[in-house]
Amino acid sequence: IPLLRFEHAAPGQLRALEAQLADTHRAFVAQGLALDLTRGKPSAEQLALSDALDGILDRHYLAEDGTDARNYGGLDGLPEAKRFGAALMGVDPGSVLVGGNSSLTLMYQAVLVAHRFGLTGADSAWSRGGTVRFLCPVPGYDRHFTVCEQLGIEMLTVPMTADGPDMDRVEAMLAADPSIKGMWCVPKYSNPTGVVYSDATVDRIARLAQVAGEGFRVFWDNAYAVHDLQDVRPLASIEAACRAHGTVNSVLQFASTSKITHAGSGVAFMSASPANLAGFKAFLTACTIGPDKVNQLRTVRLLPDRDALMAHMQRHAAILAPRFAIVLRVLEEQFAGGDLGQWEAPSGGYFVAFDTRPGIASAAVALAAEAGVKLTPAGATFPYGRDPQDRNIRIAPSVPSLPQLETAMAVFANSVKLASVRAALAG
Ligand code: PMP
Repeated sequence: IPLLRFEHAAPGQLRALEAQLADTHRAFVAQGLALDLTRGKPSAEQLALSDALDGILDRHYLAEDGTDARNYGGLDGLPEAKRFGAALMGVDPGSVLVGGNSSLTLMYQAVLVAHRFGLTGADSAWSRGGTVRFLCPVPGYDRHFTVCEQLGIEMLTVPMTADGPDMDRVEAMLAADPSIKGMWCVPKYSNPTGVVYSDATVDRIARLAQVAGEGFRVFWDNAYAVHDLQDVRPLASIEAACRAHGTVNSVLQFASTSKITHAGSGVAFMSASPANLAGFKAFLTACTIGPDKVNQLRTVRLLPDRDALMAHMQRHAAILAPRFAIVLRVLEEQFAGGDLGQWEAPSGGYFVAFDTRPGIASAAVALAAEAGVKLTPAGATFPYGRDPQDRNIRIAPSVPSLPQLETAMAVFANSVKLASVRAALAG
């Protein structure tokens, strides 16, 4: 029964549809499936693209400046690793600090430093001014929200649009509330909506420091900088915009090779102004004598320049694109022309974000779980795990095989429809 709008449906029609969807659901449950569409991580096939990392140094441990990568030191990274990070983020190598295996760690540490110790001297610590708030574009990346929650930073949400965060709202909120000290941004193939920030949005973000309170910082998490599925989509340079507006201290950029090489043993990067870098390094000196430079060297040997990096990313895309195609095809077949769900077709990244009718997402996720398909908990893409409209579901298609994905998406579609029709009958 291709019934995709319920407003004008007769109760009898809805009941017949419910019975049919419930039958299909029971048939899925009986199959005892165990499929997983939760975390956006590379598949084993993708990880294997970088297996040459193992042994690539052939016991040659010297960096280009003569540093022995096996030894202590090099707090902010080897020169060739800084260059790699600079090419990845489109910034100047002099602005880059090379960290350990996780950009999330760098982001956590950067927020911690700004909050507790001050990025530009003790007086600049946000905690001195009392309540600290962050702007969180939603839906967004759950781990960003966890950082704020753990550090006691209050989160205020701002809706995402097709061009990035709703900038009218962002500017108005910042102008009205100087306790807003930070903002999370995933500017390219945003997690989970897949949106690439428009040039105008990037420019407006670079100007926020002019309306925001003292010490305001944007955490520019460019986790998917080169993770294009089709054509290479350019992102305007936030660094250039900040230079033009005299706001270079207001943005900290992050990236990593987690979804380029081996996700658990990648290399993370931060790019920041000299003042911010100095503040961050003062903190880092107390944490470590230096990062894993052997891994930095292995990474630049595997991907020695931008061409090698982009060719490598095309091999990822060849594995990922058919998976996204299945997700989008099933959504199109099952939901196009109706009002049971909305989604955008991303051209990169790791996710498809699906919005159900209000109040349906948790029930749909629970039904899918019953049928053996794990989805990220509804609400996870919002601060405190609370989606006020209970609409957003994040689909991560990278790990299942193509046949598994077909089945998982069939379960997904049936679960959304069943939850929707039951809610319509109840309401
Ligand atoms: N930022 C975003 C937006 C992500 O989606 C992810 C991974 N899911 C990360 C950061 C984590 O990066 P890393 O592995 O470098 O800590």
